[in-house]
Amino acid sequence: KKITIAIDGYSSTGKSTVAKQLANYLGYIYVDSGAMYRAVTYFAMQNGFIDELHFNIEGLISKLNNIDISFKFNETLGFAEVYLNNENIEKAIRTLEVSNFVSKVATASEVREKLVQQQKYMGLNKGVVMDGRDIGTVVFPDAELKIFMTASAETRAKRRYHELLNRGDNVDYNDVLKNVVDRDYIDTNRADSPLVKAEDAIEIDNSNLSLEEQFQKILQLVTM
Ligand code: C5P
Repeated sequence: KKITIAIDGYSSTGKSTVAKQLANYLGYIYVDSGAMYRAVTYFAMQNGFIDELHFNIEGLISKLNNIDISFKFNETLGFAEVYLNNENIEKAIRTLEVSNFVSKVATASEVREKLVQQQKYMGLNKGVVMDGRDIGTVVFPDAELKIFMTASAETRAKRRYHELLNRGDNVDYNDVLKNVVDRDYIDTNRADSPLVKAEDAIEIDNSNLSLEEQFQKILQLVTM
């Protein structure tokens, strides 16, 4: 019987890595909810609502109906890439620039409402692994398995730093660390659906776990 798996936690705890592993192993669909918030942020940047000097959230909200987000499975990569109005933006949304704006965009209730509605719809048929910040609390409060991932800020910043270097971005470690800490602060303190561990979520600190150890640990919980 297929279940719903909700994986929440702080920035760069490796949620998407283990979510993809689980989805591939179980034959489930993986949905990266953070990619959807990033897609909205990318749209806002492309349309002049957000830059270093402007943060026109009202303008963005007035155009939310022009935003169509979809996922298409990429056989080579082994996971679904995110599309904004039929344009593949999987790579474009992973920049530090998008990361620096996304958490503020995610505080807007209108943005959350739109995305949560789509996320709930994507989960209707079970057999879904979704990662994010409010999946176990808001999107799938009835999920059969909820994981809350944590790791020290330094561990997380190092991982994200190497990810950015690997994709060829020229970034400073301290900027990456600041981004991780800032996003966690905004995510845990916003009024609408703040990042919090669901009561029935199982907390996993992976600071000292290898990817394989972490995968096995969570897999045991699935088959329990
Ligand atoms: O998961 P990722 O780091 O790509 O998410 C980017 C940002 O989107 C988070 O820092 C958070 O502000 C927001 N987010 C959210 N709710 C989710 C997923 C992401 O508010 N379910």
